[in-house]
Amino acid sequence: MPASTGFNVFDNYQNTINGKPSPTAEKRHGINPATGQPNPDVPVSTPQDVDNAVAAAQGAFKTWADVPVSERQKALRDLADVVEPYAQDFAKLLVQEQGKPLQFATWEISTAIQALRDTANLELKDEIIEETDTRKIVVRYTPIGVAVGIVPWNFPFALAINKFAPAVLAGNTIIIKPSPFTPYCGLKVVELAQRVFPPGVIQALSGDDNLGPWLTAHPGIDKISFTGSSATGKKVMESASKTLKRVTLELGGKDAAIVCKDVDVESAAAKLVSLGFINSGQVCVAIKRLYVHEAIYDKFLAAAAAFTKTIQVGEGNEEGVFMGPVQNAMQYEKVKSFFADVTPEQLALTNGGIDTSKPGYFIRPTIIDRPAEDSRIATEEPFGPILPFLTWSDENDVIERANKTRMGLGASVWSNDLDEASRIAAKLQAGMVWVNAHMEHDPRAPFGGHKESGIGTESGIHGLKAYCNLQSLYLQKKASA
Ligand code: NAD
Repeated sequence: MPASTGFNVFDNYQNTINGKPSPTAEKRHGINPATGQPNPDVPVSTPQDVDNAVAAAQGAFKTWADVPVSERQKALRDLADVVEPYAQDFAKLLVQEQGKPLQFATWEISTAIQALRDTANLELKDEIIEETDTRKIVVRYTPIGVAVGIVPWNFPFALAINKFAPAVLAGNTIIIKPSPFTPYCGLKVVELAQRVFPPGVIQALSGDDNLGPWLTAHPGIDKISFTGSSATGKKVMESASKTLKRVTLELGGKDAAIVCKDVDVESAAAKLVSLGFINSGQVCVAIKRLYVHEAIYDKFLAAAAAFTKTIQVGEGNEEGVFMGPVQNAMQYEKVKSFFADVTPEQLALTNGGIDTSKPGYFIRPTIIDRPAEDSRIATEEPFGPILPFLTWSDENDVIERANKTRMGLGASVWSNDLDEASRIAAKLQAGMVWVNAHMEHDPRAPFGGHKESGIGTESGIHGLKAYCNLQSLYLQKKASA
């Protein structure tokens, strides 16, 4: 029953184990990053909670794996129908826990509900390699078993759904572990999923920093789908290696945007800057380095700075806000460390820098004009609203500089000369490459990084395969005499 009818499901937050709310003795809480105020209590899971959830997931897998695909597809569509009436409540909760402006929270919720429906349209069919009178060879996609979805704090609702929807469609069971910074939407959507899915198919555990390592080490878990930083991704892979769990790793990025000299400067500058500062720069595929052709650099920088000064920063429910706070204290300190070398003159370009006038973790959008090529801001992912601008003049040189990173998530080229743009795009080492766009995503296309930006992909049929084992079935049609 939707909240609008007076029944409020958004008043307490529990783990979901074996179909039921599961309280814990210890509690903790997140912080509203725009106000510094505590959010509601959430559970602190124990090793016993992990064992209980794994046992329930293993039990549920025995039957869920045999449920016909059409019923699993229907369950995802039914869940979309169950969640949709609560979309506004989720959007408000997302602003409160994550800090993003309401317009983007609303977008995240509706896109994720659509992702449930898009995922429900996917189907992995057996592939017949050969069929003769005497034998048949079939490639089958079988579910892996118990999966764990480890979710970061930048898109807590969408990324939880992006993990559990393909996992259960492929016949797995899954435990969702939200980030300790943003546990609320993840816990709540899994609670709602119990109205549709059998107990143990989709569960959620929230906890402190111990919980992730307990899950990745647990011998009863078969697959980890992790989204987060490259540093943590390496730890996850190391831990998973002990029992050879399958892993999908969606990690950090240092996306380059290469701007050619024939773009429309005013509109391109505004668009590119928006794609760097959206979600306060806390998007894995945000633009994190701009290479602007030197022929237009001064004009482009001036247009970008003028636009940046118009960006409204504030609490997510305020009218017209484009950028909320940085999500948490740890990240705030990290982003602030990138300002250590920034001069007052550089900050003046966009009126950028740390905003101490408000109670939350606010940083104003900041463009850094031509930092040293080997500086931290030009080479590392700040995951905050601070964006380095660099120049280029030689095509091969800019391609080399764009690729000179251990990251390889996204990259883009901006040009009205499609031959030039395609030539450059084809040489970029990244999982997603865009021309005259950045951050676009189609649910049918794979999403994932090259190099230290990840292993494997999510989304579409490729993402579904990541939750499957491959099986080659050799079928001789007659038993030999
Ligand atoms: P993080 O690595 O700190 O945490 C991500 C999740 O991992 C959280 O749920 C956390 O509790 C958990 N975790 C932490 N240590 C763990 C461990 N040792 N074992 C298991 N789990 C552990 O990342 P974050 O700060 O939440 O997110 C920001 C990073 O995520 C950025 O680098 C960003 O680029 C990346 N990211 C990537 C994608 C993508 O699809 N490629 C999407 C969003 C964010």
